Amino acid sequence: MTRYSPDRKPIAEECPRISTSLLRKHGYFLKAAKGGSLTWVVDSIKSSIDIIVSTVKDREFLELIYSKAGSLQKDQFDYKIRLLSTPCNYGGVRYWFSCLLCEARVSSLYLPPSACYFACRHCYNLSYESRNTSISKGRFRALEILCRLDEYEKKIKRKYYAGRETKKYLRYLKLVRLLSWKSSQIIYLE
Ligand SMILES: [Zn+2]
Repeated sequence: MTRYSPDRKPIAEECPRISTSLLRKHGYFLKAAKGGSLTWVVDSIKSSIDIIVSTVKDREFLELIYSKAGSLQKDQFDYKIRLLSTPCNYGGVRYWFSCLLCEARVSSLYLPPSACYFACRHCYNLSYESRNTSISKGRFRALEILCRLDEYEKKIKRKYYAGRETKKYLRYLKLVRLLSWKSSQIIYLE
């Protein structure tokens, strides 16, 4: 007898993924700044994103620019992921991503079908096989809010109360900061 199985959570292999090794292989860490695009084909669905990598001292980041259909908002995304570096045994540095949501130092970021932002495997609770465990609910709620940041701002009735920011408004500001929502000017140094 087969049992009905509810919608299964995505597994890592089925999600578009960006890894530091992929960026290294394509020479993204060799220049002060380099732009390009990445394309995936998952279940014969093609998706592609534009990326900018900056290794300028104190301005190390990976910027991701893409639009995503099927998300809560069919929207254009443009945000930065902080790059961290550790010294290598043989000289030079090794780069890592700082996950947008948990700030963990990771070497791969994923974009599950239902999500809007690239984040680490732990935040999306992705497994490497079809074995799935429970979702970290708090983080998924945070993601949902991030996806609807503009809507969230509209819902804030009072931004200030007695001369101080309201709790809701502070939370919104924190999310905006987290995403560095407005991307600052990029200087191409090639
Ligand atoms: Zn994370």
